[in-house]
Amino acid sequence: MLKLPLFSSRFLRSCGTAVLVAGLSLGAGACRTSTQASTAPQQPYPQQPYPQQPYPQQPYPQQPYPQQPYPQQPYPQQPPPVAQRPLLPPLIGVAAQQQEVRNILAELINVLSPQNQSLVRGIPLTFDPTLEVNAFAGCDEQGTPFLAATTGMLEAVDAIAQTKATDELFGTKTYDAYCNAVLPQMVRNPNARAALPAGIIPAQFGGDARRWSRARELFDDIIAFTFGHELAHHYLGHTGCAKGQAMGNAPDPARLGRLLSVVPLFNQAGEAASDSAGAVNALDAGRARRPQYEWSETGGVLLLDYFARIESAGGGGGPLSLLNPVQFLRTHPNPLARIPIVQTVARTWRSQRPG
Ligand SMILES: [Zn+2]
Repeated sequence: MLKLPLFSSRFLRSCGTAVLVAGLSLGAGACRTSTQASTAPQQPYPQQPYPQQPYPQQPYPQQPYPQQPYPQQPYPQQPPPVAQRPLLPPLIGVAAQQQEVRNILAELINVLSPQNQSLVRGIPLTFDPTLEVNAFAGCDEQGTPFLAATTGMLEAVDAIAQTKATDELFGTKTYDAYCNAVLPQMVRNPNARAALPAGIIPAQFGGDARRWSRARELFDDIIAFTFGHELAHHYLGHTGCAKGQAMGNAPDPARLGRLLSVVPLFNQAGEAASDSAGAVNALDAGRARRPQYEWSETGGVLLLDYFARIESAGGGGGPLSLLNPVQFLRTHPNPLARIPIVQTVARTWRSQRPG
């Protein structure tokens, strides 16, 4: 079986350093406005009494400054604002989450080119009960393509979505609290769960309908990037088995879990290509959802930030993670190098599809 995971522990590491540099340099040309006035003729500055207006004595609004240890990624502007979007019902329970993933996968496929659609339509999706946070595209022994997400993946996406939604609405820091509580365990113990522990969300916010609705939007956004990426592995030919053939059934999840120990080759160019194509796919599908909430690069950035925090929790990051005792951190692509890929793709996409 060949599997190409999104965040597998089975990759050689570190893609896209050059892309990272290019991405960061995009903002560097903006500060050259202050040198132009120096050659202007010197004229006496008109002496007019400066109007004395009382400075408004208003207390400066005290807003907690968001403490984020990671690079500050601008949150894409979503029209219309949260308050004007219809409230979505809560997404509670594994069955509801799995059905949501299936729906999102269908929306992603619907906006692919006819050629790519013909390669991936009908690919079975299976849910792997293992706790490792992962999603992957693969081929079974008969050469039938499949897609999969682990239980750990759904638990992690749910936790990210719930905490980020809470922080957005109430100015809390539940995402930080969740990461601090859970990630150190995850990097030490393969049986630790990524699920949101009780007590992270303050009780007074737990039942807020806006919070549940926003969490569902974010859950969907992250899943859209995840499976946009995995679909791309198939239609870009990385798996080699998605050829538009008649699709079979998904592999037995129990067999998938056992086969997770198979070590696929990590292809750096393939990962970057799948990140790019997956981000475009999520953006295209998001635009097609109007007037519903539009998926964007938000989901990809949130997920990759989460993986960067896992890497940090393991003491890793950069070349040092080659020495990290945790296989995940030693072997998966550097998430901080992938974030600028997603953001750059989104900027280009937006400039080409204004409105
Ligand atoms: Zn991948």
